[in-house]
Amino acid sequence: MQPLDDALLLDIWARRDARRRADCDDCADLLASVRMAGDAHLDEWPLGRCQTALLELRCATFGATLEAAMDCPQCGARLEFELDGDALLKIQRDGSADHADAPALCVQGLGFRLPTRRDLVAVSGLGDERDAVVALARSCCIDDPARVEWTEALLASLDAAFEAADPLGNLQLSLACPDCCCVWDQPLDLPRYFREEIDVRARALLVEVHRLARAYGWSERDILGMAPARRKAYLELLA
Ligand SMILES: [Zn+2]
Repeated sequence: MQPLDDALLLDIWARRDARRRADCDDCADLLASVRMAGDAHLDEWPLGRCQTALLELRCATFGATLEAAMDCPQCGARLEFELDGDALLKIQRDGSADHADAPALCVQGLGFRLPTRRDLVAVSGLGDERDAVVALARSCCIDDPARVEWTEALLASLDAAFEAADPLGNLQLSLACPDCCCVWDQPLDLPRYFREEIDVRARALLVEVHRLARAYGWSERDILGMAPARRKAYLELLA
């Protein structure tokens, strides 16, 4: 996986507001920005595959360690921790490898495919959570969904099967507060996390471009096209 280069990173940052849509679209939007796949293909990707591609891009660009911070929902204490991007990618590889020979999942005798971004968008307008879960299950059922009775047991088994086959599709972090011993699950919003990193990096790049352009009269394009080591050397000369 190639890292985002500085010029593309700045483009993505500048287009951010124009392209911002619902959260579930964000992952595919980011990937579409780097032209890893056409938008139509991304709609058909299982959610975990989309997340995996985004995580690979993130790790190639900023390294395998993800630093995160979160407030305890009970006492408000600040928790700071690191996630290992390579380990997360391995979880997804191991999960999907188990199903590589049989892309359709069999749950309680029924056949299912993995949910995609298109499925999620289709049910996102349903206000009732159970209605949304059933609608998602129906759209992923490759048998005759009209004849299926959507019991709680079937929905729970299906949820577990989706998670096992496509772990990064719905990534939950299990967190524990060292101060009050509160334990909770927190979804990892990878697109948002990566977006925030891109924002920080883009703002730093703008400062670098501004300083070099003002000192030497070079264009933004020339400055961004410069090898990072050379750019850094010029910035040190100015300091
Ligand atoms: Zn706490």
